[in-house]
Amino acid sequence: MGLVSKIIGFLIAAAGGFLIYWGSLPGMEAWSMILFLVGITVVAIGSSLLFAGRGQEEPEPEPPTVTELQCQEQDCDFKEIRDFKKGDFILKEVEQECPKCQGLMMIEGIYIVRKEEETPQF
Ligand SMILES: [Zn+2]
Repeated sequence: MGLVSKIIGFLIAAAGGFLIYWGSLPGMEAWSMILFLVGITVVAIGSSLLFAGRGQEEPEPEPPTVTELQCQEQDCDFKEIRDFKKGDFILKEVEQECPKCQGLMMIEGIYIVRKEEETPQF
């Protein structure tokens, strides 16, 4: 989405630049002012699209999140912690099988990993 609006914005800006160039060609004196004004407007629209696309490209980095999976077999207490994936929620059954007993795995918890603050050096 961001890339598409960037390309469209670039094409619109380029078209506006071409209109300004066109108005500066010899024999276009009667049209040069109109082409210049229209060209400036088109360049402004195109660059605002470029700017909007650029803003969307830099979202705030999400804190690292991990998902804790636990085997649902009674005799097995296998646990695994992996990176959080979109769509993970607590008590969701995952397609992944338990590597120990091929049992059903379920999401037991989702945790945000905070960077431990550095202990001050004395
Ligand atoms: Zn198991």
